[in-house]
Amino acid sequence: MKIIIHGGFFSESDQSHEVKVAKQDSLKSIVKKAFHYLETHSAAETAVFAVKLLEDDELYNAGTGSQIQSDGKIRMSASLMNGDTQKFSGVINIQNVKNPVEIAEFLMKEDDRVLGDQGAKNYATKNGFPDYSTETAQRRREFEEKSKNGGKGTVGCVAFDKRGKIAAATSTGGKGFELEGRISDSATVAGNFANKFCGVSCTGVGEDIVSNATAAKIVIRVTDGMSLAEAFDKTFAELKEIDGFAGAIAIDHLGNIQHRDSHPTMVFASFDGQQFEVFE
Ligand code: ASP
Repeated sequence: MKIIIHGGFFSESDQSHEVKVAKQDSLKSIVKKAFHYLETHSAAETAVFAVKLLEDDELYNAGTGSQIQSDGKIRMSASLMNGDTQKFSGVINIQNVKNPVEIAEFLMKEDDRVLGDQGAKNYATKNGFPDYSTETAQRRREFEEKSKNGGKGTVGCVAFDKRGKIAAATSTGGKGFELEGRISDSATVAGNFANKFCGVSCTGVGEDIVSNATAAKIVIRVTDGMSLAEAFDKTFAELKEIDGFAGAIAIDHLGNIQHRDSHPTMVFASFDGQQFEVFE
């Protein structure tokens, strides 16, 4: 059993030391809780559990604490990829729900598994997910000051359960100040992908992640026999060619864990029951 989570990026120039320590403490606590959950649940259930805890923490740009877009609204995107069943589900640009990842999980049983905008919200309402505002005073202040300080806090998790099954989940409030209708990478296979061989969750500039097909590429490379470390080397070298900004976390079928960022510093924590790693 292994687990790795991320909470987007931390920038020394934009954010205080207190925020860094708060993110380290929060990630440590969430990765431990999620590992404990993994003892009795599947990789997919655990990925959702971890992402839900991250969405509920206002420190991150996902769920509560999501960024506000250029028209003053919050639109969130989240997805779940179950590597065991090889199925992907997600919501894109949903408004006024507490945990977008829960709706992504709920959609897993449908034929139509990725819903957007009002259709996603209507589906959530019909299935008993209440109206909920994820706006925080801090995000409104940042929006009014036109500051991007709180950005880059997308969250994600890759879990590897005791049966060796892998799942990935990712959730975001987007980039902040984006044009209405802009689509993030987080509910696409570029930002979140898994199969029997590997699972990956990304953060960073969605346009770069989609252009580079980051998560899908890493998973496919591992599936075709490349080591996880080599798959990261090659994919991040290609990202550099387009001057891309991204971070990724992953676990492969051998239980290897990887994390990488194109720019400092992706905020992450991993735990395998013995070894614990948190970003510095
Ligand atoms: N990837 C997210 C997006 O572009 C943002 C982030 O990871 O900070 O919507």
